[in-house]
Amino acid sequence: MSIASAIQDIKSSLPAHVQLVAVSKFNPIEALQEAYDAGQRLFGESQAQEMVPKAQQLPDDIKWHFIGHLQTNKVKYIAPYVACIESVDSLKLLVEINKQALKNNRIIPCLLQFHVAQEETKSGLTKEECEDILSSEEFVNLRNIRIDGVMGMASNTDDEARIRADFAEITRLFVYFKLHYFAASEHFKHISMGMTHDYPIAIKEGATLVRVGSGIFGERMYQNRYK
Ligand SMILES: *Cc1c(COP(=O)(O)O)cnc(C)c1O
Repeated sequence: MSIASAIQDIKSSLPAHVQLVAVSKFNPIEALQEAYDAGQRLFGESQAQEMVPKAQQLPDDIKWHFIGHLQTNKVKYIAPYVACIESVDSLKLLVEINKQALKNNRIIPCLLQFHVAQEETKSGLTKEECEDILSSEEFVNLRNIRIDGVMGMASNTDDEARIRADFAEITRLFVYFKLHYFAASEHFKHISMGMTHDYPIAIKEGATLVRVGSGIFGERMYQNRYK
């Protein structure tokens, strides 16, 4: 299937309140251009050194979401280009994003990434860690970041009930933090969850952003990493 028809198929299956993040990591510029020509404007990348040259070469009306693990020393590279950092999992990272956003005279939207999956390796916050961040004085004084919602991943399994429970847990966390910390914010409204194999379940459980990569661009060729 072509990139264009994959995008059309997925988009036609999404409810109006759900946006498609086309996860273009490890794919070449030409593939992204094809998606752009098919009307896609929201892309997800997981590495700074890959996102920056793509943002510089492709049209300015693309919104770039950063979805991978972000080291603090890489924030400065993506700060001018990124529309949303979905993978925020520490206060230290938020402080650095705030600093680089200030340098670029802008506010950078962020999502709080939660760990709900069974695997130990997946990064993200626990509810308690998130409460510690949000109630700290340091956080309250950050003026150049904005928290737009939450992000997470389900366990890597074929067990649909497990996946559904993980997504339901992410939505519960969203509702909890909305109520206790962001009740007055018109921006705290996003739940980013669901990938190629599980995004229909994520939508049923409340996703507003789904992050689909291989379902659009085909299997990633990790050995041909984009340079
Ligand atoms: C790679 C990636 C995706 C997309 O995965 P696919 O299975 O290719 O759809 C979504 N979210 C994150 C955080 C990723 O790293």
